[in-house]
Amino acid sequence: MGSLSCRHIYKYYKGEQRASVKDFNLEVEDGEFIVLVGPSGCGKSTMLRMIAGLEEISEGDLYIENRYVNYVSPKNRDISMVFQNYALYPNLSVYENIALGLKLRKQAKHEIELKVNRTAKVLEISHLLEKLPGQLSGGQKQRVALGRAIVREPQVFLMDEPLSNLDAKLRAQTRAEIMKLHSQLKTTTIYVTHDQTEAMTMGSRIVIMKDGEIQQVAPPQQMYDQPCNLFVAGFIGSPQMNFIAGTITRREGEVCFETKRVRWALPSRHVEALNSAGQNLRQVVLGVRPEHIRIGGAAGQPFVGTAQGRIEMMEQMGADTYLFVDINERANIIVRTEAHSGLTVGDSIEVGFRMERVHLFDAEQGHNLVLQEAIRA
Ligand code: ADP
Repeated sequence: MGSLSCRHIYKYYKGEQRASVKDFNLEVEDGEFIVLVGPSGCGKSTMLRMIAGLEEISEGDLYIENRYVNYVSPKNRDISMVFQNYALYPNLSVYENIALGLKLRKQAKHEIELKVNRTAKVLEISHLLEKLPGQLSGGQKQRVALGRAIVREPQVFLMDEPLSNLDAKLRAQTRAEIMKLHSQLKTTTIYVTHDQTEAMTMGSRIVIMKDGEIQQVAPPQQMYDQPCNLFVAGFIGSPQMNFIAGTITRREGEVCFETKRVRWALPSRHVEALNSAGQNLRQVVLGVRPEHIRIGGAAGQPFVGTAQGRIEMMEQMGADTYLFVDINERANIIVRTEAHSGLTVGDSIEVGFRMERVHLFDAEQGHNLVLQEAIRA
C-alpha cells in the first residue's frame, strides 16, 4: 500500500547558501506512523512539503510505493495533507468540503455520498454535515479537515502540526482520536510537530531533526532510553534530562566521573564503553533523567553518585513533584519525586544519581558514549 522512500534528499531554497534539508534518508514501511519532530526551523515542514510535492526536491529521490515521484504533481501522488489552519472552504458546507476531492476526481454521486457519510461516522461529525466551517469549533474544524483527507483513501497522510491551534485539552483528545483512526485505517502517516509529547505518544517511530539533518530515527521508548547525542537527550523528555559537565578520571583502580565537587565511580558497562571510545577521552557531559535521581542516603547501594543540595523550587504536578535542587553545579538539577514527600523549599537534602542509568556524552561532539540496549528500571 503506502511505503515511502526518501533517499539523500536535499532542499536549497532560492538564494540560500545553506541547505534547509540535508541528506534526508528514510525508509517508511506501509502502515507506519512516523513523527518528524524538532525545534522550529529545523526543516520538518520543508521535508513534508517535498513529500507532498508542494516544494521542489533540490537533490535526491523520493518514492511512494516504489514509484519515483520527484516530478509528479501533488494531486497525482496519492497523498492527503492535513494542515494546521484546517484550510477549509468557508462557503462550502462540511459535506461539500469533505466531498470536494472526490468530486474533482469525478467519482459518481452515490459513491461520494456513501464515502462522505462513512467518513463522517468514523469521525463522529455526521450531525455537522450541513453546517458551514464558520459555525464549528476548532476541534470540529480539524475533524472535518481530517475527514477530507481520509475520504480519499490515499496511500499516505501528511499532517503538518494539525493540533497546534487547539487548546491543551482538545489537543490531547484529538491526538488520541488520530491514533485511534490510524489503528483502524492503518494508512501510512507522516506527522510533523515541534512537540516532543506528541512525538512520544503518537509515533511508531520518531525522526528527530536539527538544522536540516536527521539526528536519530527510533521508536519512542528507544529514543527516550538511548538518545544518540546531547541534542536528542535534551529534546525528548519532560522535564528535561539533567546535564553536568565533568571529567573522566582513573584513580585507585576506579574509573570515575569527576567535577570540582563530586567524584562518582562508574559501572563497568560505562567503563567498557569509554575504553572502546578511546583512552584519551576526558571531557564529558553526564546526563541523567529526573526519575533516576533519588532523595536521601545511598548507604549500601552500589553505584549511586551522591551530592549535597538545597531545594530551590518545587513544582507540584499532582501525581508527582519536581524538585529543583542546587548541588553547586552550573545549573539546578531536576528530581522527579513522589507527591507526598514532606519536603519543602529550602530543605537541605542528599541526592543519589543511579549511575547505571546515567549517560555520558562526548563534550565536544555530543554523541552518546554509552549507548546500550534498553534496561529495566
Ligand atoms: P520547521 O518546519 O522545522 O519549522 P521549515 O521547514 O519551515 O522548518 O524551515 C526550515 C528552514 O528553511 C528555515 O531556516 C527556514 O527559514 C527556511 N525556509 C522555509 N521556507 C522557506 C522559503 N520559502 N524560502 C527560503 N527559506 C525558507
